[in-house]
Amino acid sequence: MILLVDMDAFFASVEQAHHPQLRGKPVIVCGDPSRRGVVTAASYEARPSGVRAGMPLQEARRLCPDAIYVEGDPEKYVALSLQLLNLYLSITPDVEPFSVDEAFLSVGKPGTTLDDASVIARDLQRTIDARFGLGASIGIGPNKLIAKMAAGVRKPRGLTALDEAGFRAEFWSQEVQALWGVGEKMSARLREIGIMTVGDLGRAPAGPLKAEFGIIGPQLKEAAWGKDDTPLVPYHEGVEAKSMGHEVTLAEDSDDPAMLEGMLLRLSDQVARRLRSEGYVGRTVCVKLRDRRFVTRLRQRVLEGFTAEHRPIFETARALMREHWRGDALRLVGVTVSQLERAPEHDQSELFAHDLKAVRLRTALDRVRDRLGEASLIPAATMTRRRRLKHVPFGPVGGRPGGRARREA
Ligand SMILES: [Mg+2]
Repeated sequence: MILLVDMDAFFASVEQAHHPQLRGKPVIVCGDPSRRGVVTAASYEARPSGVRAGMPLQEARRLCPDAIYVEGDPEKYVALSLQLLNLYLSITPDVEPFSVDEAFLSVGKPGTTLDDASVIARDLQRTIDARFGLGASIGIGPNKLIAKMAAGVRKPRGLTALDEAGFRAEFWSQEVQALWGVGEKMSARLREIGIMTVGDLGRAPAGPLKAEFGIIGPQLKEAAWGKDDTPLVPYHEGVEAKSMGHEVTLAEDSDDPAMLEGMLLRLSDQVARRLRSEGYVGRTVCVKLRDRRFVTRLRQRVLEGFTAEHRPIFETARALMREHWRGDALRLVGVTVSQLERAPEHDQSELFAHDLKAVRLRTALDRVRDRLGEASLIPAATMTRRRRLKHVPFGPVGGRPGGRARREA
């Protein structure tokens, strides 16, 4: 059985757990509250007023004037995310982090029932609450698709276990976009061929689906039946990568060269860290520059040798940007390293010589942190200017009572 553990309003709940004066109040986590930006997370108390993650702060202030604005602290969330990961690993080695606040767990053996898995899940919810003061919603199903979708059925602190029949009962009446992986564009195409609900998709004849979507057509139909055979990939087992890259959508379009180069440095550092943690070296550096009209330019250069260090990656990316950027405001920048090879010194000895768990956790830390960056959860421009990410110790997370919370007029 697969569990998807999804922390409830994670960043906001962490702030409430660490600052008792925030409990029971509408809390909005954001970048720098004094700058233009977006809501990173909203506590459940703020949600009835309509505040949602991704919303401009200005709008949030209008909807929920009493909210308390807290500057987000990515290091704290990553540290907590890793402590949660540790807890999951005490239950099963098969843990796949899905985002900073979600993870898939495979529990039990073949023959384990939904009820057995529910007992494990309920127990896990209690432990998370007792140890961290946080709520989690858990979805349970025979595969990742059902577990993921079940987790969204009841929140916060929900526990939803569905088999395939339960999945159909829950989702067939819902709009087709409710299906995991079906975005706006695809649902629009589905509607064009008369498929409005998940059930319509499940009952659709194979022909038109295949004509419209090619090989994805039959897979979509399978998904509507709650069928999914994508394996859970434990986070310490990587797949061979062809390239590694990171990009970030800026909180505000920018034509400030210092800020943009700072961003390239941060992205280069993320890419280099990930190369090292997964044991690769690479030889081609590519920068991606997207302007406000969504025109994207990709420029690449081959290095003299293979590397996993941020310096040559950054210097090449910066040179490419200086040569090809026309000075217009950019909305997205990215750095990718390709032409990868296994790093020669990266044999298994490190894993055995040192604490295996520490190595795994370091890798996970990078990944979770990368996801934070990728998702632009914290407006990256703000972060690069004011502080660089530093290593997070694995000890208990210390709250800074009152220090970062501030009430907005
Ligand atoms: Mg969540």
